Amino acid sequence: IKKIGVLTSGGDAPGMNAAVSSVIRYASSNNIEVFVVRDGYKGLIHDWIEKADLNYAQSILTRGGTAIGSARLPEFADQKIREKGVANLQKHGIEALVVIGGDGSYMGAQRLTEMGINCIGLPGTIDNDIVSSDYTIGFDTALNTVVEAIDKIRDSMQSHNRAAVVEVMGNHCGDLALYAATATGAEVLSTTEAKLSEQEIVEQVTTLAQKKKRSVIVVVSEKMYPDVHALAEKIEAGSGYITRATVLGHIQRGGTPSAMDRYLAITSGMFAVDQLIAGHGGLCVGLDGTTLVAHDINQALSMPKQDKIKEINKIRSLNAEFIKQ
Ligand code: ATP
Repeated sequence: IKKIGVLTSGGDAPGMNAAVSSVIRYASSNNIEVFVVRDGYKGLIHDWIEKADLNYAQSILTRGGTAIGSARLPEFADQKIREKGVANLQKHGIEALVVIGGDGSYMGAQRLTEMGINCIGLPGTIDNDIVSSDYTIGFDTALNTVVEAIDKIRDSMQSHNRAAVVEVMGNHCGDLALYAATATGAEVLSTTEAKLSEQEIVEQVTTLAQKKKRSVIVVVSEKMYPDVHALAEKIEAGSGYITRATVLGHIQRGGTPSAMDRYLAITSGMFAVDQLIAGHGGLCVGLDGTTLVAHDINQALSMPKQDKIKEINKIRSLNAEFIKQ
């Protein structure tokens, strides 16, 4: 194999650059030329493809976001559109591709493999919602951002005897919320996997108020309640705490990647290139314990989600010990 491409697709995540950098450096050390495709599959069909060198790889290694850009292109599900992308790759002599993104991006990678371009997927998302990997590139950095924010909110709530609702990202995966609530001692936790009704949240906070808890943090995952500010008002009316809501939003997506995310990204990037050198395609890289493994993409996409209800309930009972589940 002489020439490969690399692209980032779907939502950006800290560590994507480290993965791209790793692919460029490791492939180069194996005498393989690397081309970056700008803006994901969109760049593939528009021929936004450029050769990358070692200086570029070094310049992006530690940066947040994705320097080569990402985009969503739903039309890529259409075979005719994908053919344009394959033709562009062939024009440059690019034989294979590393795709860094989420489940949707993996689908595109699988389709391209079926069209003769071997693709390897890397798990890049802050949401940790890729079942075939214990952790995804970007999760650790986002988690640290969330924890830092909640710690700061706690300082203020504790000073003023108040309650706060903090909405975190996760895209229907509660891991960011669960891990952040665990790390900050948040008293109330509601995620997609173990959703509390608004009434249940008000009741839990009210119980804490009756127990004279000085401050209360309620961590909720995004996309679960129509309006967290309205939820804060209900908590205030029920519990008596002055209650404020904070939607952390896109600060969770940005920032310098943590050392753990860089480590995962760089080792996964090398592992992906090794798969391409071995002539493999239609695979995605996952972390299984401390070991990197390659899964068939089709199988990976149908893996069942791990049941986290027990962990969630344990943390709930630890952080608000007087509300036994
Ligand atoms: P995130 O977790 O950040 O949402 P993702 O990779 O799951 O990342 P998607 O928007 O679902 O994000 O997918 C990214 C891109 O992958 C899509 O915009 C589209 O170009 C491509 N894609 C998604 N589904 C398919 C499919 N069935 N066939 C071909 N390409 C697809």
